[in-house]
Amino acid sequence: MIIKSRVQKLRKHRRRPTVTGRTSLFSGLVYCPDCGAKPHFRTANSLKRNQEFWRCSNYKSRRGECAIHYIRDVVLEKIVFEAISGLADFVKCHETVFLYILAKKTNAMRQKEHKKLQQTVEQGTRRIAEIDRLIEKVFEQNASGILSDERFSKILQSYEKGQKALMQEVSDSQKTLQEAKQKVTDLRLLLRTPRELTDITELTQTLVNTLIERIEVHNNDKSGGHCYVKVDIYFTAAGMIDIPTEQEILAMMKEIQENPQDFRFVA
Ligand SMILES: [Zn+2]
Repeated sequence: MIIKSRVQKLRKHRRRPTVTGRTSLFSGLVYCPDCGAKPHFRTANSLKRNQEFWRCSNYKSRRGECAIHYIRDVVLEKIVFEAISGLADFVKCHETVFLYILAKKTNAMRQKEHKKLQQTVEQGTRRIAEIDRLIEKVFEQNASGILSDERFSKILQSYEKGQKALMQEVSDSQKTLQEAKQKVTDLRLLLRTPRELTDITELTQTLVNTLIERIEVHNNDKSGGHCYVKVDIYFTAAGMIDIPTEQEILAMMKEIQENPQDFRFVA
């Protein structure tokens, strides 16, 4: 189930073969934050590996409204590598704090809320079955003449109305529970990988696909004299993660000690 859903997601990121047959580790994951398009990965036989680059697919195209959003693939690799190894180090040293950040960030469902939804599903399902039995009963009463047609029709209508509302409520709650479960599953995946990795020496396709959902390459800002490209990395299920400073970590640890129950995932 976990693997399946992840694989389904990954299938959406199908890789388009390039002229040279070379692909980037990030194909399918890169987006332009300004126009929302997927930038093109440019490779050619005349280009060396360190010259391969990305640029917005709306740049100077016929409509051409977007800026270039240029970045070399090797530079992007370096940025992503640093982000992943930084995250892995942080998870290894401060797992509790990391869980706390995830819980806050994703609004992971609290235990109380989860229990309430489960109750709604159980009670609602029971009540729906009960109404079925009541409906059967009024049918019998009407057939045997105890209940007039007029009364029967009114009662039936009211039962059916109530049942319909309950069914909607049960189905909504089930959906919310299912979504929460999926979120936790994705978060677990995000957690498991850094835990299992002892030392990241290089990026692999699996590592990138497991940990990263989206990469946004901003347009380069040359105002400072040298070229600086801002890259936003969205991790699986968690989005952007800023590694906190020592001081922030201490403050969070204090908060965790005060409300330990509040920041645990429900699964
Ligand atoms: Zn663009």
